[in-house]
Amino acid sequence: MADVSLRGVKKQFGSLSVIKGVDLDVKDGEFCVFVGPSGCGKSTLLRMIAGLEDISSGELKIGGADMTKVGPSERGVAMVFQSYALYPHMTVKENIGFGLKMTGHSKALIEERTAKAAKMLQLNALLERKPGQLSGGQRQRVAIGRAIVREPEVFLFDEPLSNLDAALRVQMRTELSGLHQDLKATMIYVTHDQVEAMTMADKIVVLSAGQIEQVGSPLELYHRPRNLFVAGFIGSPK
Ligand code: ADP
Ligand code: MG
Repeated sequence: MADVSLRGVKKQFGSLSVIKGVDLDVKDGEFCVFVGPSGCGKSTLLRMIAGLEDISSGELKIGGADMTKVGPSERGVAMVFQSYALYPHMTVKENIGFGLKMTGHSKALIEERTAKAAKMLQLNALLERKPGQLSGGQRQRVAIGRAIVREPEVFLFDEPLSNLDAALRVQMRTELSGLHQDLKATMIYVTHDQVEAMTMADKIVVLSAGQIEQVGSPLELYHRPRNLFVAGFIGSPK
């Protein structure tokens, strides 16, 4: 079980208070979307869950276990970044398997998981190419493949579609939703795009200036926004 739970989580960068006390429960297998304007703290919150930033105070648990002293690679999470961060000199296949290789997994296991991920993401014909020979959408699939082969219990996505053109974004939304159904993993997905949030989420967390404004299903937020900020952001007429 990989519930993610935050209690009174805060983050300070020097004197700047960026996350101002967040309480949140993401259930096992849930597709949870963090949405909010640029600079409100979405990436910081995600990076704290990933273990890439310490939390300044509060409590963070994954699968019921306290994460205070647990490093990023021991948390059972995998993060997909907006910039993909692929290695340009490696093939698609090498890029997908690299993390597993670094953590000392056997060649056979890497082959098996890479083949499975490549099939799932329709990358079979592209395995010997370098990132420079791929389209934006294909690169994005490779970045997701790299996360999948680690078989994490929790996937963390930070605006993974924002570098893609509008048509491809729509297609990838559908593919990511399908992936969530296939893998049945917990997914936390950051976006500033309301449409993405409304179409993909089981649960939406609306953030503003380091605090949660409202948490609810897309329908709840649409029909019962708590305030004008949420209404304006979700696009319902309040
Ligand atoms: P979002 O992802 O919602 O756009 P971020 O989490 O990236 O927002 O940033 C939230 C705030 O924290 C911004 O004001 C940003 O400038 C600040 N911030 C983020 N990372 C750092 C850092 N490493 N040092 C100082 N300030 C930071
Ligand atoms: Mg961000």
